[in-house]
Amino acid sequence: MKVYVDPDLCISCGLCIDTAPEVFDWDENQKAHAIVDEVPSDVEGDAKEAVENCPTEAIKEE
Ligand code: SF4
Repeated sequence: MKVYVDPDLCISCGLCIDTAPEVFDWDENQKAHAIVDEVPSDVEGDAKEAVENCPTEAIKEE
């Protein structure tokens, strides 16, 4: 599983970083971004939860 954040849709609420800190962090523009290429299997559930709960649907699953 891979995830990608569309920076044009991200409103910097921080939910994904709280939900899956092993997968998301802030970039230099204070937008969330994926910090791993491939989501580790043990945090895939957290990553999927972040995808589902993003208020602007900015996180795409690849
Ligand atoms: S949950 Fe969505 S809007 Fe909020 S910081 Fe993450 S990507 Fe951005």
